[in-house]
Amino acid sequence: MRSPEALVEAFRANGLKVTPQRQLLFRLLHDTTAHPTAEALHRDASDRMPGISLRTVYQTVTDLTEMGELRQLVVDGGAAHFDPNLDDHHHTVCDGCGDIADVYVDAVDQLAIDGLHGFTPDRASIVFHGTCATCAGT
Ligand SMILES: [Zn+2]
Ligand SMILES: [Zn+2]
Repeated sequence: MRSPEALVEAFRANGLKVTPQRQLLFRLLHDTTAHPTAEALHRDASDRMPGISLRTVYQTVTDLTEMGELRQLVVDGGAAHFDPNLDDHHHTVCDGCGDIADVYVDAVDQLAIDGLHGFTPDRASIVFHGTCATCAGT
């Protein structure tokens, strides 16, 4: 995701309004590695700017996703999590606390995949389920 300043420019260039609420969301998203849902982002934003609407949060993350500034991650059919990290990466998800973290996997394109039947994969998203260090008590 580009810097909050660059996003202000990009939104204006696309004819979208840039309100203080949206600028707050740009900053929160740019600085997070927590993969928040829209609801979690709304809670964070409300702490800093009481009265910001969930609708504004949804609209902003939708616009950012359409502009390619955010990726969506759905784990186990739950609510979409939003990810400003556009690098090629994968995720760990803790069964205990639900924490989602970024991981990098080498040679994904060299995996031995059976059953493609002519399907041509052009990207992969791997989710490792397990227990985070905090939950494991290590
Ligand atoms: Zn955990
Ligand atoms: Zn991520």
